[in-house]
Order: sequence, then structure tokens, then C-alpha cells
Amino acid sequence: MEVHHPTSLPDALRAVAAGATPLAGGTDLMVEINFGHALPDHVVGLRRVEELNSWEDSRIGAGVTWRRIDEKGPTALAEAARTVGSPQIRNAGTIGGNVATASPAGDGLPFLAAVDASIELVSPTSTRHLLWSDFFVGVKQTAKAPDELIVAIQLPERLPSRQAFGKVGSRNAMVIATVGCVVTRDDDGKTTVALGSVAPTPIRAFRAEEMISAETSPSESALFEFQRLVSEDVRPITDHRSTEEYRRHAAGVLARRLLERCLR
Ligand SMILES: Cc1cc2nc3c(=O)[nH]c(=O)nc-3n(C[C@H](O)[C@H](O)[C@H](O)COP(=O)(O)OP(=O)(O)OC[C@H]3O[C@@H](n4cnc5c(N)ncnc54)[C@H](O)[C@@H]3O)c2cc1C
Repeated sequence: MEVHHPTSLPDALRAVAAGATPLAGGTDLMVEINFGHALPDHVVGLRRVEELNSWEDSRIGAGVTWRRIDEKGPTALAEAARTVGSPQIRNAGTIGGNVATASPAGDGLPFLAAVDASIELVSPTSTRHLLWSDFFVGVKQTAKAPDELIVAIQLPERLPSRQAFGKVGSRNAMVIATVGCVVTRDDDGKTTVALGSVAPTPIRAFRAEEMISAETSPSESALFEFQRLVSEDVRPITDHRSTEEYRRHAAGVLARRLLERCLR
């Protein structure tokens, strides 16, 4: 296997355009290689590319690690970062790698959906920004072209004042989410609810959002209706981690608890 270690973005892009597989922290890619699911001849290491490690206000470089996000990220993204793997995984794993892998269980993805983040994609000849909903197209499938690198995640300049992330899994740490969720609520009551592991891509529960955003001080019955709408709007499957029924139930309960946290 040939490995390149460029120090500039143009050199990294040239390698990718020539067919090299990007390697950031390696916490997803090396698992694929070790299991024989990916056998790249040509790998381009991204860690020395300074442009990818930069973080300016609402623009987070793709090479920013979960450890850095835990330290200074927006509330719910930092909460998500804290649950990714172990300290070793958080030191190596990056937000760009999480987004590129596009696992339905990726812990970074519900936040991006909740705040309507965009993905900045650069090729040797173009730059484009795709809204999260145009970028994630299926289970581990994205709209990224083969000659593009994810260079940054662009968040809105102003984020909702209250945000909460939660994850349900079979244990408290080192666990892949059975359901992941972010709820945000702004000062004017506008609420967003984004979920992971309950559909092929991260999703928003728009009916629940609309209903609860209209409630200035949600009653017990409004909270119950919110929970019911979230449970109804998800599209989970039964797999080795959980049944469809449990995921549906857990999604509603988790979203309601996170909303209650935002309302405190
Ligand atoms: C033990 C363990 C526990 C884990 N726990 C969790 C968890 O709790 N939650 C969670 O969400 N994930 C978890 N993961 C998965 C992984 O750590 C994360 O998805 C991480 O964010 C991947 O980032 P990375 O930099 O290591 O990606 P890499 O492995 O380097 O790359 C992943 C994929 O993205 C591509 N890629 C990387 N960077 C770019 C870029 N800039 N542009 C285009 N393509 C790119 C690579 O080619 C590869 O296909 C775990 C993994 C392990 C091994």
C-alpha cells in the first residue's frame, strides 16, 4: 500500500483525484481495512494538511478531532463528542471522517441536521456547499464525488440558545447508538428535533417540531403529543442492535426528555 502525507490542500486534492483513499484519524477506515472490506492501494493521510485542521467560528475543519469538539464545540455537538468511542478514539477520530462514513449511527450527524449545517466539498476544480439533507443520501452513502474532499462543516453563525444531545445504547460508554437525538429550542420557541439510527440517513421530525414550536410553555399533553409524533415520524429497522418497535419508542422518549432539558 502506497501512503502519501501531503502538507497542503492542493497536494491532498491531487492525490484524491488520482484515486487515493483519504485517511484522517483512521478509526473507521482501518477497521474496514482490517476486516478486508476496503483494500486501497493508495492512501492519502490528511493529518498534516493544516487547512483541514483549522476551526474559525462557525466553520469547523473536517480534520478537527472529537477531543477538540468536546473542549470548545457548541453544547449539543460537544455532548455528542463526549460519547464517541473512548479517549483514544476521540483523540484520533474527526468530524470529517464521521460525516464521510455517513453511518446512520454517526454521533455527529443529528447535530448537523438539527442546525441545518452544510458540508463544504472541494475538488481540484470546484468548491460547493451541500445542505446536510442533500449530502446524506443513504446508508453510508453521500453525494460527495470521488475527486472531492470534505474540507469543512459550516454551521449557521447563530445557533439556538438551548440544545441537548442524547443517545440510547446497550451500555453507557463505547457504544454505537440504538437511537441518537438532538433537540434545539430558541428564545422564540422554534424547536428542531433531529435523529440518528432510525432511518437510512439522519432525519428531522418536522411534524413534532411544528407542533411544539407553537407552544410557548408546553403542557404535559403537548409534551406527550410531541413524543408521539416523533415516534410516528421515524423509519427504523430491526437489526442486531434493536427492534424497530424499541427504536420507535426510544426515539419518542429520548426526544421528549431532551426537550424537557431545553425547557428548564
Ligand atoms: C472502537 C471504536 C468506537 C467508535 N465509537 C463511535 C461512536 O461512539 N460514535 C460514532 O459516531 N463513531 C464511532 N466510531 C467510528 C469513528 O470513530 C468515527 O466515525 C470517526 O469520527 C471517524 O473519523 P476518522 O477521522 O477516524 O475517519 P477515517 O477512518 O480516517 O475515515 C473514515 C472515512 O471517511 C473518509 N474521509 C476521512 N476524512 C475525509 C475527508 N476530509 N474528506 C473525504 N473523505 C474523508 C475516509 O476515506 C474513510 O472512508 C468508533 C470507532 C471505533 C474503532
